[in-house]
Amino acid sequence: MKVVELRNVYKIYRTEYYEVRALDGVSMDVEEGEFVVIMGPSGSGKSTLLNLIGCLDKPTEGEVLINGVETSSLNDNRLTELRRDTIGFIFQTYNLIPTLTALENVELPMIFKGVGRREREERAKELLKNVGLEKEMNRKPNEMSGGQQQRVAIARALANNPKILLCDEPTGNLDTKSGEQVMEIIRHQNEVLGVTVILVTHDPSLAKYGDRVIRLRDGKIESVENVS
Ligand code: ADP
Ligand code: ADP
Repeated sequence: MKVVELRNVYKIYRTEYYEVRALDGVSMDVEEGEFVVIMGPSGSGKSTLLNLIGCLDKPTEGEVLINGVETSSLNDNRLTELRRDTIGFIFQTYNLIPTLTALENVELPMIFKGVGRREREERAKELLKNVGLEKEMNRKPNEMSGGQQQRVAIARALANNPKILLCDEPTGNLDTKSGEQVMEIIRHQNEVLGVTVILVTHDPSLAKYGDRVIRLRDGKIESVENVS
């Protein structure tokens, strides 16, 4: 089953003086359970592509389908629901709420979904334990290392059992060892739990995690390589 389909997608940013074709006619499919790595130099359109797949942004032209549903046909409420129930996001800069503890950060998506207090606290603790942060649960982001913060962000992304995990340079700010821990957690989600992973990076050393490596250049797909 295809969980993501892009059909001839364009994203054009227009300014007073010039326009940027961040995505210039991109078509691609992602099958359920796949691990896709999207590579390409800075400015090639990787973040734009991921934001469109995550319904954080809309294409200028073309179609984005998630689980077979054309997303431009959805109203804002349905889109929010789709994002909340189907998609988990991990960013280079973690994007945790600084005033909340690790536990509270992980509970947040479950609060938005209406999960009861006891159940969400239990699940948040379990998720944090699974990423090795049992002892750090009551710390705030600025009391944790980058690697720890990213693991909190992963736990948060997994809170509502997403089918698709979108990762934007998840190891970009981490040292090698912390980066490897983060990648092993992501790999586990994919291999053991069957979560579809789409990861964008300019780091060639992450290509090995993918079933498929798609290379972008100037907003176009330059090559697709199946790794087996
Ligand atoms: P990457 O993630 O590969 O670095 P991006 O998707 O961030 O690439 O950007 C692709 C191109 O689109 C770049 O030239 C970038 O400057 C431009 N761009 C991205 N977002 C905007 C925006 N909001 N307004 C104008 N240009 C943008
Ligand atoms: P990344 O490191 O993930 O590629 P960037 O640092 O390129 O992200 O961009 C961060 C934010 O700034 C994004 O929301 C992107 O859409 C926006 N952005 C990127 N390039 C431009 C630009 N030339 N003009 C306006 N906004 C931009």
